[in-house]
Amino acid sequence: MSEHKRLLDTATGPLISQEEPTLFEKSHPGRIGFSLPTCPVPEINPTSVIAGDLCRGEISELPEISENEIVRHFVRLSQKNYCIDTGFYPLGSCTMKYNPKINEEVAKISALATVHPLWPEKYLQPALAIQYQLQGLLSSLTGLENFTLQPNAGAHGEFVGIKIMKAYHDEKEKKGGPKKTKVIVPDSAHGTNPATCTMVGYEIVSVPTGPNGIVEVADIEKILSPEIAGIMMTNPNTCGLFETHIHEIAKLIHSVDGLFYMDGANFNAIVGITKPADLGVDIMHINLHKTFSTPHGGGGPGSGPVGVRSHLKKFLPTPLVIKEGSQYKLQKDLPESIGRVSGYYGNYSIHIRALAYMLSLGTIPNTEETYVKKMSTAAVLNANYIRHRLRPYFKIAFDSICMHEVILSDEIQEKFGIKTLNIAKRLMDYGYHPMTVYFPLIVHGAMMIEPTESETKETLDQFCDVMIEIAKECETNPKVVLEAPTRVNREKIDELRAQKQPRLRWLPTSI
Ligand SMILES: *Cc1c(COP(=O)(O)O)cnc(C)c1O
Repeated sequence: MSEHKRLLDTATGPLISQEEPTLFEKSHPGRIGFSLPTCPVPEINPTSVIAGDLCRGEISELPEISENEIVRHFVRLSQKNYCIDTGFYPLGSCTMKYNPKINEEVAKISALATVHPLWPEKYLQPALAIQYQLQGLLSSLTGLENFTLQPNAGAHGEFVGIKIMKAYHDEKEKKGGPKKTKVIVPDSAHGTNPATCTMVGYEIVSVPTGPNGIVEVADIEKILSPEIAGIMMTNPNTCGLFETHIHEIAKLIHSVDGLFYMDGANFNAIVGITKPADLGVDIMHINLHKTFSTPHGGGGPGSGPVGVRSHLKKFLPTPLVIKEGSQYKLQKDLPESIGRVSGYYGNYSIHIRALAYMLSLGTIPNTEETYVKKMSTAAVLNANYIRHRLRPYFKIAFDSICMHEVILSDEIQEKFGIKTLNIAKRLMDYGYHPMTVYFPLIVHGAMMIEPTESETKETLDQFCDVMIEIAKECETNPKVVLEAPTRVNREKIDELRAQKQPRLRWLPTSI
């Protein structure tokens, strides 16, 4: 398509035709964006150094484009991206909060960013100090005495935590203890939970979610047995609700010498208010990239520190960052450790961001604790505000005070032939990133909305106004919702065809 036609279409045609031509289409013979100096060394024939079938031979017909055209091309493409710096991102379960730029500035400070992990410890002191301080803050927020920062994602943290659970039971088994083969996982769990337990070699015992969206004590009692190695529970859970029986459940698990693993991906709702160790938790991971701010998406980057009670410290991955006198050290002599789980010491630049974020919230006078509590209370308030505004128009899956996220169901809209996927696509027409859809799996047509603490009341109101408008459209003009999106850069894919291919079906979009 010519540039001229593209511009004409922008003014007159439907928005869908705003395709950006490729560089090849924009190419014009003789235009130059950048010229290389003549090569000062003799040219090598690539086929002489690269194995034959890996070498494509001569590259011909590269696009010829001027500098300003190529800059505009890539900037235009970048502007088609939806990002937290341009708009509200209600993706539930992912905690897509605004990430203050000060964290990026701190992570970029060259003295911190250029540290090499193979330097001797004495030169690594500032980096180790950051990690040590972060471990300490995580300990004070969770009540769990020891932390490793090595895991590079939430799922990676889960793996480390369940390996520690296994190491604990293996040791007891060697001394004649019972064989532990099963881990209890609620049916509302994030898919990584059962996957992790299976990878470590445990069998999953699924526990159903009760009518109020939380696990009931009686259901745990029913499945409790000496083979139970532990429970893996998310709190607040993926229904956005606080597991109010957690204390009693922990007691039951401990009564069969099981360990309580808490998936702390939803820590954003309770951090600074409740310490998981006080609830009976033995092991947990935290998603630094969610709760403590790092831009993430599309699979990374992440950091999933794992905290444990002191009797499990000996199993943590090596090396551990410790302090002796005024010196920070990497402790490697942990014979019972599950071993190293990451190249070097984890995702260090995310550790810097997390620490910068926590400290920038301010410290409570005369303590080392930060005001993270302000953040979690605002996150919970915002989610409940959305729940309250939308409940006359949508079915709320579990209509009680929620934590940091609220889940709607498409039950009301289904009467008009509209499903969650249609609503999500219509949101895109209104300029919003959709919420998480079809997760958790136990809610019919789930729409999971997590506003986070970083949004203003005006933003929340605008979003709710749009959702209410869509709910009205479902009744009065369902066609417009069914045909959505029509005002975005990409055409609608053939969903019916996609649904017939089993691998493409209703994958939860959460990360
Ligand atoms: C995000 C999330 C995970 C996985 O974390 P990653 O960093 O994406 O690996 C696990 N459990 C829950 C509840 C989550 O929300």
